Amino acid sequence: MKIGIVFGTRPEVIKIAPVYLKAKEKEINVVAIATAQHREMMDMMLKVFDMSPDYDMNIMTANQSLNSVAAKVLVKLEEIIKEEKLDWIFVQGDTTTAMAGALSGFHMGIKVGHIEAGLRSGNLRDPFPEEMNRRVIDQVSDLMFAPTKNAKKNLLKDGFSKDRILVTGNTVVDSLIYVQEKFDLDSIRKQYTSEDDYILVTLHRRENWGEKMKNILEGIKKFSIEYNLPIVFPVHLNPKVRKVVNEVLGEYDKAILLEPVDYISFLSLLKGARIVASDSGGIQEEAPSFGKFVVVCRNTTERPELIESGYGILAGTEKLSVFKALVKGFNVKVDKSRNPFGDGKASIRILEAVL
Ligand code: UDP
Repeated sequence: MKIGIVFGTRPEVIKIAPVYLKAKEKEINVVAIATAQHREMMDMMLKVFDMSPDYDMNIMTANQSLNSVAAKVLVKLEEIIKEEKLDWIFVQGDTTTAMAGALSGFHMGIKVGHIEAGLRSGNLRDPFPEEMNRRVIDQVSDLMFAPTKNAKKNLLKDGFSKDRILVTGNTVVDSLIYVQEKFDLDSIRKQYTSEDDYILVTLHRRENWGEKMKNILEGIKKFSIEYNLPIVFPVHLNPKVRKVVNEVLGEYDKAILLEPVDYISFLSLLKGARIVASDSGGIQEEAPSFGKFVVVCRNTTERPELIESGYGILAGTEKLSVFKALVKGFNVKVDKSRNPFGDGKASIRILEAVL
């Protein structure tokens, strides 16, 4: 039995790495297949986990369209599936890499496993294209690895048979445990900031590009001024993000603007933060492990568990709504012991399901 694991972006590597490493440890035949949809950020992450892909499609081009990414992955993966005689393709999450990877496996008649299945916003076009990607992947998956019971409920509601769904926990918790065992996060954080208390910010989502991102940043800046808390912000490489960040925070002396940091450094910053403001999906799942409250700068979240368990709040994208959400979150005491996203054993559950 041979499994191909496909990935192309930073968050995918974080969430497939523990599955890949566990498969190697158990001597399961596994092939790591990189599309490199986001070249630099994917590579940065592979180093953390000492992973080197068996195949690297190297598809990224400047201003690539979603169709060009999908088309390249569909065709190139077909060749690899044939050459390696794969039995399973595992994809993770909701990227175009994952969608095309799953579809390529489906076309070739091999089994498809979807890691982190069942997340739903309820609106096919928002977030774009992720929500459509999730749904397409689930349609062609033989096994859907739901991170939470809520994700399983979404899949049942969509009409999938319960035999195709397994609640595993989110592999991100497996990754966090790996990292905390291997690295001293507190001393790594000192390379970036000597501040003890700060707002950790990340923003990157396509749905927030432009005016919305400007409003969010203004809300964060207002909070930073009124509560005298500095901002620590590793800024995404996308020029559309950088332009707005520079406009709002470029001259602000309490903003520490960093290049995107590697995963370990990011976790060290997360561990040291007073509060988090972000539109990231992955960070919503990581923060509870460190007992941090997340102000989600969006109108919706596919991780309602975060809000339900008291670890976060939906802030919207207006200056005042973001400011008010930060004030509210600042006063919440978070209980670190109730992590709604997993127990660190998701990878082994996933592998045992296909053995
Ligand atoms: N992250 C990182 N360096 C950074 C910012 C974020 O390693 O400078 C990590 C973070 O810990 C999380 C992941 O990247 O696991 C989230 O990626 P992103 O926000 O790009 O994507 P999303 O999770 O929204 O799909």
